[in-house]
Order: sequence, then structure tokens, then C-alpha cells
Amino acid sequence: RAKAEGRNVHRFFEPAMDVAVQTRRSVELDLRVALAEQQFALAFQPFLDLSTNRIAGFEALVRWHHTVRGVVSPAAFVPIAEETGMIVPLGEWVLRRACHEAARWPQAVRVSVNLSPVQFRSGDIDATVIAALREAKLDPRRLELEITEGVLLQDNASTLAILHRLKGLGVRIAMDDFGTGYSSLGYLRAFPFDKIKIDRAFVADLSVRPDALAIVRAVTTLADSLGMTTTAEGVETEEQLAHLRDAGCTEVQGYLVSRPVAVEAVAPMLVGR
Ligand code: C2E
Ligand code: MG
Ligand code: MG
Ligand code: MG
Repeated sequence: RAKAEGRNVHRFFEPAMDVAVQTRRSVELDLRVALAEQQFALAFQPFLDLSTNRIAGFEALVRWHHTVRGVVSPAAFVPIAEETGMIVPLGEWVLRRACHEAARWPQAVRVSVNLSPVQFRSGDIDATVIAALREAKLDPRRLELEITEGVLLQDNASTLAILHRLKGLGVRIAMDDFGTGYSSLGYLRAFPFDKIKIDRAFVADLSVRPDALAIVRAVTTLADSLGMTTTAEGVETEEQLAHLRDAGCTEVQGYLVSRPVAVEAVAPMLVGR
């Protein structure tokens, strides 16, 4: 009976499973080829310092220029790259590329790079960062690493030790997507972040929900008292910007300032400002 049932279950699920597994496998294979054939590129999105109204830096965002599918967004392939471990060599490429580009910019603004929790588990992330900085001859104080709660969720002493080591070099550590996870406050106590990026969900709600404004105010006050700065993500309207200024946010980033741009567009944004 179990066998018959098993066969039914098998028959019922197999086609869908097959598609999922095959898609994943084909994407994985594609990723390997893409890395070897340099189909990846970085887009750079500026963040603005609200006290000076000048660009304080650019976040590097990976793009995949797929030969058939066109530009693929990281949301579509970063999770598969993480599952397959491909994020380790890809993340290393992103770091080296971002440092290399930033070293050539006409102003010594910062460059932010997103790190995956997987890069902390496998591989020598601090050695990779140090090598990328050396190779590019980039001042470590110009590099900012964005991590999500997932990194600290792994909760091992080695993760914290790595973060402290990097911070000791002068590299800045930012908490990305703040407010989207479960115990964000605990994480702020676990590590002395330099910057907190307020998730764009709160920014989007600023004009429609009074509680979003209260939350943003509370976060900037908290960050202030912990010696951290704040960057609001996903700022799209002048109204949101006004609220964020008023709340004492340090920096803003979003389509209102600029969409992510190709590397060639970075220098012109920095010249004459
Ligand atoms: P993130 O680090 O939170 O990056 C912000 C995302 O929001 C980017 O999407 C950016 O293009 C988008 N965005 C910026 N301003 C606005 C706005 O005003 N409105 C809206 N609606 N969206 C805005 P993107 O480039 O698709 O990246 C998505 C996520 O993929 C990133 O979220 C980050 O978690 C991940 N990611 C990107 N590049 C890398 C990378 O090199 N390594 C790793 N591990 N993850 C990456
Ligand atoms: Mg980020
Ligand atoms: Mg973010
Ligand atoms: Mg986000």
C-alpha cells in the first residue's frame, strides 16, 4: 500500500519537482559559466550626506548580463548562488571589482559592498577583504561592508571576531535592511556597527503611516546614542526626504537621488560637486 501511495505521490510531484530542480541546476551551471566568462557587472548607487548635500559614497550592486535572459537582478540569482556556494567566488569578484573602481574615482568617497552570510561561513572573508584593499591600494576607511542579520544569526564567536578584525583595519560595517528581521535590537548590542540602513519598507510608509515616522525617529535617536549613523533606503519622494531630514537621518539613498548607474556614470556625478 505504501508503495502504491508512494508511487502516486511520486507521479503527482515529479513533473513540478523536475522543473524546479532543473531550473536550479541550469542556473547554477549558468552562474559558473557567467563567472568564467565575466558576464557580471557592478551598478553603483550613490548615498547622499544630508548635512552637506554631497555624495558620501556608492553602494556596489551586482548585475548579471545573461546572454539570453538579458540583465538578471540579484534577487533572482543571489539565493541560488548562496545555496550552491557560488556566492563565495562571486562575492570575492564583487569585492575586488568594487575596490578597484573606487580607487579610481575623482573623490575619495566610500564604496559599500554587500556580503552574504555564506561568505562568513565558508572561505576566508577577512583575508579576501584585505587582499582586495591591497590589490586596489584603497584606503580601508573608504570601504563599507553591508551585512544583514543573517550574518549575526549564525552567532558564532568567529563571525564576531572577523567583524572586529575588519573594523580594526578601518573598514566600516553597516547593518543592512534594519527592521525587517526578528531581534534587530539585540544585534545592535552584539556588534558596534558604524551605520544602520533603515529598510525601505519604513521609508515607503513615511507619508501614509504616522507610526512609520515614529519608528524612523526612534531608530535615528537610538543610532545616535550608540554612536552609529543612519542611512534611509529606497527614498523616492521629496516628502519622504523632508521627513527623514526632520528625523535626523544621516544619509539617504534611493531613486530620488539616483538609480543605480553603470560605473562610467560615477565619475561625472563626483566631478564639480
Ligand atoms: P540591498 O542591499 O538592500 O540593496 C537595495 C536594493 O534596493 C537594490 O536592489 C536597489 O537597486 C534597490 N533600490 C534602491 N533605491 C530604490 C528605490 O528608491 N526604490 C526601490 N523600489 N528600490 C530601490 P538590487 O540591486 O536589485 O539588489 C537587491 C538585493 O540583492 C540587495 O539589497 C542585496 O541584498 C542583494 N545584492 C546586490 N548585490 C549584491 C552582492 O554583490 N552581493 C550580495 N551578497 N548581495 C547582493
Ligand atoms: Mg545593501
Ligand atoms: Mg538594503
Ligand atoms: Mg533593502
